[in-house]
Amino acid sequence: MEVWFTELQCSGLKITCKVLQTLHREITPFQEIAVLDTELYGRMLVLDGAIQTTIADEFVYHEMLAHVPICTHPAPKDVLIIGGGDGGCAREVLRHQQLNSVTQVEIDQRVVDVSRHFLPELACSFDNHRMSLRFEDGIAFIKEREASFDVILVDAPDPVGVAAGLFSQEFYESVYRALRPDGLFAAQTESPFLNKELIKRVYGSVRGIFPIARLYLANIPTYPSGLWSFTVGSKRYDPAQGPASAAEDMSNQGLRYYTPEVHQAAFILPQFAQALLK
Ligand code: SAM
Repeated sequence: MEVWFTELQCSGLKITCKVLQTLHREITPFQEIAVLDTELYGRMLVLDGAIQTTIADEFVYHEMLAHVPICTHPAPKDVLIIGGGDGGCAREVLRHQQLNSVTQVEIDQRVVDVSRHFLPELACSFDNHRMSLRFEDGIAFIKEREASFDVILVDAPDPVGVAAGLFSQEFYESVYRALRPDGLFAAQTESPFLNKELIKRVYGSVRGIFPIARLYLANIPTYPSGLWSFTVGSKRYDPAQGPASAAEDMSNQGLRYYTPEVHQAAFILPQFAQALLK
């Protein structure tokens, strides 16, 4: 008997993957967690029925979320990750040897525990000595912080449930306050094909708060429509100018997607995506 997993990506669109084995399923106080072994994409983390990451294409998302903002900053020291319980973002951030500290705030400890067990390729950096992992609501955490971080990365799931507030104007105002005077943040902001209103709203909020707002794109096959957006708010450095001249050289890190050229090219938007920002 064949088993197939279907994600309802939006009204009128589903993606279906052949499942070799269901490795784990549980319901936590925050969400339903599943880990599936799929034929095409390998192990897959699913939260509340939505694909979060897969072994086959996770590198695109995690490299682009982490290295674009960190390489934009000429001398980053302290980084905050909100969400990101699978560990892929932390793994990429910790490649930067010049960082002193990486703080990660994940609301659901079970996502980290399950990822440590089933997705060790991603959850391989939580025990790094520069890493401080906290289990609490990132929205409440950041409200209490002022001028504490050089780079903030918002590795959030879709904007529903406990994650909805991670896409709000109030949250971006807190992010602004938590950044140092030359800091910047990046957040995953869904598909420019399928989530136009969300991108417009988020970009509008960020542009109203930060002197520099930018959108960049990457191709991620298992995310709805395959084309994914990230939004940056920056106090001083423009990420569209490419990596800072002082940025760490990532060429010997074994990356599979990010290069300085990809960084710069990711900000060149097709016309329909540019139109979302007007
Ligand atoms: N790459 C993913 C995507 O776009 O589908 C996101 C992956 S990561 C697993 C998202 C994490 O954010 C989840 O583990 C979830 O528990 C966490 N999360 C959701 N809301 C949160 C909040 N308010 N504070 C901190 N973490 C949160």
